[in-house]
Amino acid sequence: MVNLPVIGVLSLQGDFAEHVLMLDTLEVNSMEIRSQESLQNIDGLIIPGGESTSIMKLLELFDLKNSIISRAKNGMPIWGTCAGMIILSQNIIHNEYQNKIHKYEPLKLIDIDVTRNAFGRQIDSFEFDLDVDGLEDPYHSIFIRAPQVSRVGKNVEVLSSITNTQPVILKQDNILVSSFHPELTRDNRIHKLFIQMFS
Ligand code: GLN
Repeated sequence: MVNLPVIGVLSLQGDFAEHVLMLDTLEVNSMEIRSQESLQNIDGLIIPGGESTSIMKLLELFDLKNSIISRAKNGMPIWGTCAGMIILSQNIIHNEYQNKIHKYEPLKLIDIDVTRNAFGRQIDSFEFDLDVDGLEDPYHSIFIRAPQVSRVGKNVEVLSSITNTQPVILKQDNILVSSFHPELTRDNRIHKLFIQMFS
């Protein structure tokens, strides 16, 4: 029998509870992560959507940043959704909606640059039927104050994009990112794609 991985969900801020519920639907064991010790007991990590500035501040406060980076460098799969994608990126570009630039450096674990809130304000949130590599039918995706990918490094694979122009799911080795919120739907197929990274 194949052992299912234990997935940690970074639970400092944002919609971590929804990720845990999605993992439950796949009967995957999960663990809420708020400490360095608990990081040692997981096989993979999800960084949820929320507010990237708050999560990055808390990552420093809880002293989790370097431990996550070192587990990632040793091959642990990590998936960031929306704010999680911003946190995993190489560089964060701010736009007119940000009135102050925060000082937190992203984890630089995937070679992409992202522009925060690039689709506009909360009212400009939208839904879209995406074609995704590895999925037979389109995936109905929810974008909430989503970031846009403004640069894709040459070793990064694009698994899905809006109208072939705007990448929204990307992967580089053990790091997966999506600019939308699969945890807010009833469709667990993107979570399944992440779990496949362990086989
Ligand atoms: N706009 C948020 C940020 O910049 C991300 C939004 C989200 O995760 N839904 O952190």
